[in-house]
Amino acid sequence: MPPFEEIIRRNLDSIRRRIAEAAERSGRAADAVRLIAVTKYVGLDEIRALHAAGCRDFGESRPQDLWEKVEMLRDLPLNWHLIGHLQRNKVRRTLPLVSLLHSGDSLAVLEAVNRLGGEIDRHFNVLIEVNISGDENKHGFRAAEVAEALPRIAEMNNVSVKGLMAMASREGGIAQARKDFENVRALRERLVEQDVKRIGLSELSMGMSDDFEAAIEQGATMVRIGSALFEESTA
Ligand SMILES: *Cc1c(COP(=O)(O)O)cnc(C)c1O
Repeated sequence: MPPFEEIIRRNLDSIRRRIAEAAERSGRAADAVRLIAVTKYVGLDEIRALHAAGCRDFGESRPQDLWEKVEMLRDLPLNWHLIGHLQRNKVRRTLPLVSLLHSGDSLAVLEAVNRLGGEIDRHFNVLIEVNISGDENKHGFRAAEVAEALPRIAEMNNVSVKGLMAMASREGGIAQARKDFENVRALRERLVEQDVKRIGLSELSMGMSDDFEAAIEQGATMVRIGSALFEESTA
């Protein structure tokens, strides 16, 4: 069995190639799509190996895990992303550590982020998470709610909206995922037309190990990839 560093390097090469090809199919350059390495399944050694192989953007879904990993890896210049649900009582400890909050999933959490930003005189970058599949168990704004929420979010002076984040339906395979991503793309276009001041919509964070190519073909600018980085492939 090859050492994990080698597995990671090999997987990373293949994922980068697939990202570049999907970007090309959508008429964009490879560097128009940022890879966020999702490290929730692994420990510090794997993160160091990813860094050595050139990764700079890392995503965690649980705030406590993020705090711990940030603390233990202070010696590396990493951009951290929180991609999972953030409870309001964890906003204060989390936001100063991340370059982007992907899970801006309610007005309440965005208000808490804004309040903290006002208190410590900082602006925080966020994405608005959209529950595009409409699954009752998922966090996020319903697609139909976002247009109404935008003017209220625009009034939060210490919050900088950069775009949207979404996850495809669990059911329905790649065909359903593609439809979900198309819906996110169409939603973004409608919101751009709404032209709300202070709201940026250039980023689309969508696509995971099993569906990132479809997401890129529908305009993803960030893909969040975990398991495909670490599995020992037979290819
Ligand atoms: C775990 C997770 C990912 C990565 O999933 P993989 O299928 O392992 O690539 C991406 N986004 C979110 C929000 C996640 O929780």
